[in-house]
Amino acid sequence: MANFWKKLWILLDLSQRKLKFLFVILIIFELLRLIGPYLLKLIIDELISFKIEKVSLILMMIAGMFLSEQITSLVAYFKDKKIFAILIDMEYYLPTRAQKKLVSLSLNYHEKENTGNKISKIQRGVDKISDLMANMCWEVIPTLIQLVATFAILLIVDWRFGFLFFLFAPTFIWVTYKVNRGLHSIREQRHRDYEESAGKMGESIININTVQSFVQEKREVKEYSSIREMIKVNELKEWFKILQVNIGRNFIVDTGRISILLLGVYLVWHGQVSIGTLVFVITLSEKSFFSLFRLSRFYDKIQESSVAVDRFINLANENPDIKNKANGLKPKIIRGEIEFREVEFTYEESNAKALDNVSFKIAAGTINAFVGPSGGGKTTVARMIYRHYDPQSGTVLLDGRDLREYDLYGFRQFIAIVPQEVEIFNASVQSNIAYSNPKATPADIRRAARIANAEEFIKNLKNGYETEVGERGIKLSGGQRQRIGIARAILADPKILIFDEATSSLDSHSEKLIQEAMERISKQRTVIMIAHRLSTIRNADRIFVLEDGRLVERGSHSELSDAKRGLYAHLLKLQQEGDVD
Ligand code: ADP
Repeated sequence: MANFWKKLWILLDLSQRKLKFLFVILIIFELLRLIGPYLLKLIIDELISFKIEKVSLILMMIAGMFLSEQITSLVAYFKDKKIFAILIDMEYYLPTRAQKKLVSLSLNYHEKENTGNKISKIQRGVDKISDLMANMCWEVIPTLIQLVATFAILLIVDWRFGFLFFLFAPTFIWVTYKVNRGLHSIREQRHRDYEESAGKMGESIININTVQSFVQEKREVKEYSSIREMIKVNELKEWFKILQVNIGRNFIVDTGRISILLLGVYLVWHGQVSIGTLVFVITLSEKSFFSLFRLSRFYDKIQESSVAVDRFINLANENPDIKNKANGLKPKIIRGEIEFREVEFTYEESNAKALDNVSFKIAAGTINAFVGPSGGGKTTVARMIYRHYDPQSGTVLLDGRDLREYDLYGFRQFIAIVPQEVEIFNASVQSNIAYSNPKATPADIRRAARIANAEEFIKNLKNGYETEVGERGIKLSGGQRQRIGIARAILADPKILIFDEATSSLDSHSEKLIQEAMERISKQRTVIMIAHRLSTIRNADRIFVLEDGRLVERGSHSELSDAKRGLYAHLLKLQQEGDVD
């Protein structure tokens, strides 16, 4: 637990100074609040041995009470203002930092967790942290100060009061602590379920097309509700347990109050304390016992939120697997020569090597194709060039330098990829194309669209370039999305262009358009094509054939098709017979 608070404190680094200052205000505030009851004690004592000449003193003390209340409320104003400022500030910087972190984390992390989970983690984390801090500032810390002050005063008044208070308060705190320890595992489970349920909900909506076409709505609903059911069961279990413990906690508090009262009566009876003092002691201890109870309720809540907070903190402390070298190379321009030297790579959740001792060299300005059966490692090669992953052994070099020597953003800006599934933002066609270069003018965008053979279909859209294309480009066909991807890559004006050809989603017309577009933009660039259809790569300068992570053949189309025993010739034959891929 101490560790948790430490981590939280570090997470809230931007608020640390303000929190320390707040702590001082809180101490002043709680001390001020003791003045009223103390004056009341003095007044009662004066009344018990009432003398007429004391009237003005009594009146002054009453006025003093009023004045101290007013000062207290003024301090309360500053205190609350401070608390709000801190909380609102946190709600700004926590999610913005979380987003910054998420977009910087490598593909490896993102592939491990689904979108719904991540969003839920951030949202619940931020909510719970601000809940937690609100409780801390308004309840927990003031109460703790109050408890310490009460204990000290009771000790000063009569050590026996202090002793009784000291006996009951910790027992109460211990019981609260024990029950929460017991509930921890249920709570953790519940939070995992929350994230899972958010993930499930997200998935069923993102894949709605598949869900509906295979009539799996009922199953989705069932799976979602079974997770929520688990949450319900655990939550009820948790709260019923707490309610049960409350009976015990009530008993402890009541026994404590009665004991102090009994002791007080005994001491007054023997003339050891005045009635005023008894009233003062009772007021303070009642207030403290009552706060103790509230404190325990907040402790339950804090424990409850700590799990969500912990998950958020873990995200904040997640280390990118791809380390960006400090002062890495930031070339002004690159030639675009790529080399793999004995590259070995295995994905985290896989046993087989995705790349097995792969070595090759790609000259700047050439067109290169990677082909082979699916699962061969083609996409992995592309990802290594981007440095989405680092090889476990061997090196990937750009212009003769290890990729790890470059600044990550410094070299990536010279590379553009047209992925199989072009990712489309919920915005206009125009801003989707310009995503790679926000400074592009409308004329630039049109030129790129023309080169990418995209203008023809864009003009037929309802609002042309202004048409909103829907989340993930749901309103566009596969071929259209890919041409947008090409236009986007053109605007980036890369030295290295990676083109991951879509498999069978394209009709031959779209394929031809895309092919043309590719040829137009290949000039003066290093082009890497991941090809599924061999028909599209005849003009490639070099073809690399990958099978099970190994580079089994390389050469030009004519060389490879002549090698009758080779895999390429075999694949070519299969495709010519119409048995694609
Ligand atoms: P290709 O593009 O040639 O179809 P890939 O490079 O995508 O092949 O995949 C190579 C191997 O790595 C395959 O066996 C695939 O299952 C595995 N693989 C790809 N991506 C991942 C991943 N994110 N996690 C684990 N295994 C993966």
